[in-house]
Amino acid sequence: MEYEALIRELEKLDRADMVEVFYRAFGAMETRYPDRRNFVYRKLVVAEVSWEDEGTSADINIVCPSGSFSLGGGSISEVGKCDGCGSNLCSAFKRVNCPVCLSVNGLS
Ligand SMILES: [Zn+2]
Repeated sequence: MEYEALIRELEKLDRADMVEVFYRAFGAMETRYPDRRNFVYRKLVVAEVSWEDEGTSADINIVCPSGSFSLGGGSISEVGKCDGCGSNLCSAFKRVNCPVCLSVNGLS
């Protein structure tokens, strides 16, 4: 399928269906990499980014259908402000890469 045709079809979906489609597609793309002792799991997520004016920091929230999101049993409970750009971050993990400026941050 051509990208443009696919995009036109996706644009017909409402917000809930759009999230469902990408949530399921990204879940199928989950990969795991060997770490020192365990495996590290990675997958793309659907996120909503909001901001008030150009140049201001952004709020970033992971979006999932019907609260079904899980990360290896973890919850999205770690929050903080990015040291690099000031965006508000939330994550299941205390150490995250900011999706806006790629700075490494420690959350609490
Ligand atoms: Zn940042």
